Amino acid sequence: MSRFASGRRIPVDPKESWSTNTVAQNTMGEGQVKELSDSMRRLIGSWELDVPVGDSVRVQVFPPLVDMLHSLVVPSNNSRGGGGAANTRNLIDAKSLDLLIHIQDVTRAWLQEWGVQGAGELKLDLRGFWEKLHSLHRSGAMDDDTFDHLAAYPDTWATKIWDLIEPPHQVPLRGTVCPRCEVGKVVNGDGDSSDNVLITIRVGHAPTAECRNGDCGATWVGRDDLIELGRAVGVEVDIDALMEVVAEMSTDAL
Ligand SMILES: [Zn+2]
Repeated sequence: MSRFASGRRIPVDPKESWSTNTVAQNTMGEGQVKELSDSMRRLIGSWELDVPVGDSVRVQVFPPLVDMLHSLVVPSNNSRGGGGAANTRNLIDAKSLDLLIHIQDVTRAWLQEWGVQGAGELKLDLRGFWEKLHSLHRSGAMDDDTFDHLAAYPDTWATKIWDLIEPPHQVPLRGTVCPRCEVGKVVNGDGDSSDNVLITIRVGHAPTAECRNGDCGATWVGRDDLIELGRAVGVEVDIDALMEVVAEMSTDAL
């Protein structure tokens, strides 16, 4: 799903000297430095984003997503404790805290399951999770399905963190059915019905569309996919208009 792997290396902060950490030493095979996925790089190292500004593109450097998430939860000019902090915490903070705790819990639960000592620092623990996951898969101790499932966690987490920082715009494809499952409407927990196929636009990402029917989950990523989707459902998807929305979002927000 990520659009950041455009052949350019995303720099990892040299301060991330995890290689001296016991977690990393325990879980890495001899000399086998496992390549990080694009999402893993952004979670634990600084990364770049091409931000469209008018007709040009500006390269913006961001800190690790995990650090960005931490700063949402704990404002830099404020200590974590103190009376009233919980009362003044806004919705974004609560969501950020939930997500941070979720990532920590899942990561540490797996490290524990695998008998790996956690480092107590989330970026290091994520690195340990990634290394152990790959070493188990490489040695045949983990089947492909489990590996694929767990290796996708960082993708989900990176997207969820970025969505808190830079909320996506979403546009339903009205009056259409998903070309794969032929479902046109989804119903939420409150019984409200809405259009099933949803286009999502995120700053710095290619536009995507997804079928929200849980049994299907078809996705379309990027301009060509969306044009193809439009053809399949008989709707003209105006990619240029979508990209204009992205450009406006990025100049507003960044
Ligand atoms: Zn579908």
